[in-house]
Amino acid sequence: YDDRDGKIWLDGALVDWRGAQVHVLSHALHYASSVFEGERAYGGRIFASRAHSERLIASGTAIDMPIPWSVDQIEAAKAEVMAANGLSDAYVRAFAWRGAGEDMGVSSARNPVRLAVAAWEWGAYYGDSKTKGAALDISQWKRPSPETIPSHAKAAGLYMICTMSKHAAEAKGFADAMMFDYRGYVAEATGANIFFVKDGEVHTPLPDCFLNGITRQTVIGLLRERNIPVHERHIGPEELEGFQQCWLTGTAAEVTPVGHIGDYAFEVGALTREIAEAYETLVRA
Ligand code: PMP
Repeated sequence: YDDRDGKIWLDGALVDWRGAQVHVLSHALHYASSVFEGERAYGGRIFASRAHSERLIASGTAIDMPIPWSVDQIEAAKAEVMAANGLSDAYVRAFAWRGAGEDMGVSSARNPVRLAVAAWEWGAYYGDSKTKGAALDISQWKRPSPETIPSHAKAAGLYMICTMSKHAAEAKGFADAMMFDYRGYVAEATGANIFFVKDGEVHTPLPDCFLNGITRQTVIGLLRERNIPVHERHIGPEELEGFQQCWLTGTAAEVTPVGHIGDYAFEVGALTREIAEAYETLVRA
């Protein structure tokens, strides 16, 4: 991703894509002092743009890394990047991190907080799983307790377990992995939330130790508008075999049906398709 034409917004100004460099002694690279957003623009408009900018700032606060930019400034930066790169349908990545500075130890209080925004065209995150249904592995790694780490933040440190889970899944031929949490309840996939359908009702894990995704909240709204019961609750592993449909939600994933989790099979059913279409319509409205 480093060698291409285009512009990236870095600390207040647009720079050439290839010139958007940081120093190897950046605190973030050593200690994961970094937070980020993943957003999608449809027809030139970023869906839930302000909610993403607000979450970026909240994630920074959660890891004790106050971001020295306001929501309005981040919104303006995203608009500049979209325009400078001539993008219409795009993925937008806004991110903040502790740079190189006076300290190289664990404390980063005296290192500058930096902010960048990049955007590029990015198609279906799960490729043809979007129509066929994704096959998910079951990860050996568990989502940690909120007493261990601010697990609701979109912080780089939390993604180590996601990357390890995804690598293990891909090595076995799966599209992604589902993670349980530290108590053994169903949590989420490595970059998306999860929903299940049983007898016309929807069940989704309570987001008490993972990201309460913006797509997740949007999809719950779509279900409630349709008077479809949604139960946000703890879901045990023994329940997996009783669910008939399953899908993932995320900015990149949008609504992606799940065909398998380990040995459990799900149909790409009518409700899954209806919600996927309703989401597609909403983001383009
Ligand atoms: N969980 C994780 C771990 C994620 O990376 C994402 C993608 N940001 C989500 C859930 C879904 O969040 P959203 O719908 O806000 O994109």
